[in-house]
Amino acid sequence: MNGSDTARPRQFRVGGMDCPSCAASVERALGTLPGIGEVRVDVMQGTVHVAGGPGAPPDARVAAAIRRAGYKVIDPGDGSPAQGKGRFYAAIAGGVLLGSGLLVSWTGGPPALVVPLLAAATLISSWYVVPRALGALRNRALDIHVLMTVAAIGAAIIGQWGEAAAAMWLFGVAQWLEGYAVGRARHAITALMQVIPSEATVRRESRDVRVPVESVGLGEQILIRPGDRVPLDGVILRGTSSLDQSPITGESVPVDREPGMSVYAGSINGAGSLEVEVTHRADDTSLARILHAVEEAQASRAPSQSFVDRFAAIYTPLVVLLALAVAVLPPLLAGAGWEMWVTRGLTLLVVACPCALVIATPVTITSGLAGAARHGVLIKGGAQLEALADITAVVFDKTGTLTEGRLAVTDVVALNGISESEVLRLAAGVERHSEHPVARAIVARALEEGIVAPEPTGFAAMSGSGARAHIEGRDLFLGNLRVCDELGNCSTEAHELVERFADDGKTGVLLMDRQGPIGALALADTVRESAAPAVAALRAHGIGVLAMLTGDNRAVAESVGRMLKLDAVHATLLPGEKREAVLALQRAGHRVGVVGDGINDTPALASADVGIAMGVAGTPAALEVADVALMGEDLTVLPAALGRARRTRSILRANLILALGLKGVFLVLAGAGVATLWMAVAADTGASVLVVANALRAMGRGREWGVGSGE
Ligand code: ADP
Ligand code: MG
Repeated sequence: MNGSDTARPRQFRVGGMDCPSCAASVERALGTLPGIGEVRVDVMQGTVHVAGGPGAPPDARVAAAIRRAGYKVIDPGDGSPAQGKGRFYAAIAGGVLLGSGLLVSWTGGPPALVVPLLAAATLISSWYVVPRALGALRNRALDIHVLMTVAAIGAAIIGQWGEAAAAMWLFGVAQWLEGYAVGRARHAITALMQVIPSEATVRRESRDVRVPVESVGLGEQILIRPGDRVPLDGVILRGTSSLDQSPITGESVPVDREPGMSVYAGSINGAGSLEVEVTHRADDTSLARILHAVEEAQASRAPSQSFVDRFAAIYTPLVVLLALAVAVLPPLLAGAGWEMWVTRGLTLLVVACPCALVIATPVTITSGLAGAARHGVLIKGGAQLEALADITAVVFDKTGTLTEGRLAVTDVVALNGISESEVLRLAAGVERHSEHPVARAIVARALEEGIVAPEPTGFAAMSGSGARAHIEGRDLFLGNLRVCDELGNCSTEAHELVERFADDGKTGVLLMDRQGPIGALALADTVRESAAPAVAALRAHGIGVLAMLTGDNRAVAESVGRMLKLDAVHATLLPGEKREAVLALQRAGHRVGVVGDGINDTPALASADVGIAMGVAGTPAALEVADVALMGEDLTVLPAALGRARRTRSILRANLILALGLKGVFLVLAGAGVATLWMAVAADTGASVLVVANALRAMGRGREWGVGSGE
């Protein structure tokens, strides 16, 4: 919130907004403000986002509306407010009064003492309920606070003070518990951020100074001592060390880093001292982006959520009507006793709130997403989480996904009377501006040999098969046999060379001009260590089809496929054909997860039921197309994430069944007059607390359900 700047979207932190009906109240209250645009209320974050624009109400008006609905607006400066302290004391005081009241009554004490004790218990317990009930009524909403207040007043009127006090007190206790548990789920997200130190040591004018991370600019040099947490993303200038990147990528094995390589804020430095050039500001580090994406993710709605919302919208008014009918019809029509039927009606009123049902989805999903994020996997939202739980087939891109994508040039062959170093020089020239792993390997090799690559003009990537450029007056092409064949004049010698490379498990590429091939290069890649265990774990999870899609040649593809025990290998595919292969699997009834590194496999990622990008901490662009992003390069976090997604969904289902089941039972019991008011409250609020506690389990470690995350 800043002043009366209404042009930009604004965020308000709201205290005590821990239940879905609370969020609905706030939303309604804001909806009545003149000029208000889009409003997004986020229970899990405890925030309200209000769109800006001309004519939008100023901050003060928005804050006043939130307060009128019965909630607090928290100043951005005030860290996180003590979770429900007031409610805690109210619950204690109410409990003591209620206990004494009941004790006096059971021991046959004077009624003149019992009623005041119980009335006081009711009043204290409703301290935090009544203001919200009034807030909701002002906005013509029927939420749990209204229902509880009406029920308590009704019970008091017919002299059932014990019922009124017990119901209110239980409700208060459960609200406090629920707020506490929701706070824990909230904390899981902010805790992600707390692994970043608040200060960094910067070298300025050859002096080392400690400054807040926010004040460090791009390009400044920071020093990281052994054992320190890395404060900002950057590239190593001097020093080598091994870094524990687990807070960001979930990879527990430390990675070795040397000059030229990236380090991420939040990682823990090993034994070496590092000098690092800052590449991202504090609010733009990988971890900051993860955090932001998780926040966005949990605000998006899961499919189960819309079902619940639709259900709740019909259920509550229906049961309120039923309660009214039960309370007045039998006495009016059949002359039955008022007291008994009003009690039953009041009990039904409490049952009318679908609280547990409505809170079940957001807390469970948030816990699941936060848990996954803590283990290096970013899931874009509830819908994506449910989709991940459902996949039946997984296809992997090869280069950079199943393999490290750190290729090395092993052979250089000259074909047309030119020298080998000329082949390398021209090849490096073509590839200078390409980011493909093949290209980087060739450029690196030329550099190693001290060859200066010429500057190309008109560079163009031929996605999934090669690249072309204009160098020193000639059109040059670099790519696989497909490119060679398409150009024409592809010699048998060239074919034989590439096939010979392939027999050795190497990828062969040809350098060509308009007349035909003039050179060949062989490149070797290493299969990731995590690939085989990941494939095995996915199979153990019951994934029926595990396949590889690659633009590389068949022999190389098949050797990798055999090593990893894949079911199918599709080689020499263009990016569009990879997409076709995914669609074919889908037509065969599979729900397909596609794993890629985001370099020219975007079409396949986008057509997948679940697009999974890996190594996202390094290439944030991949985050855009993916539904699920593996921050690091450890593939075993994928089966762990799949296990978590399934686990989260089964917790969600259990929660929905629990919530719905209890409602059903109490609907019948209350109608039949077996359940009393306090029992209904206990069941209702008990269900909410159970559901939330159950949801927190989705945050636990992967180990818990037998899928190691490589740790
Ligand atoms: P994958 O499907 O295994 O990730 P790609 O689709 O990225 O592989 O590339 C397929 C093949 O196309 C590579 O094995 C290589 O032979 C060729 N290729 C692609 N891009 C280039 C390039 N820039 N330079 C040379 N060859 C390339
Ligand atoms: Mg690739």
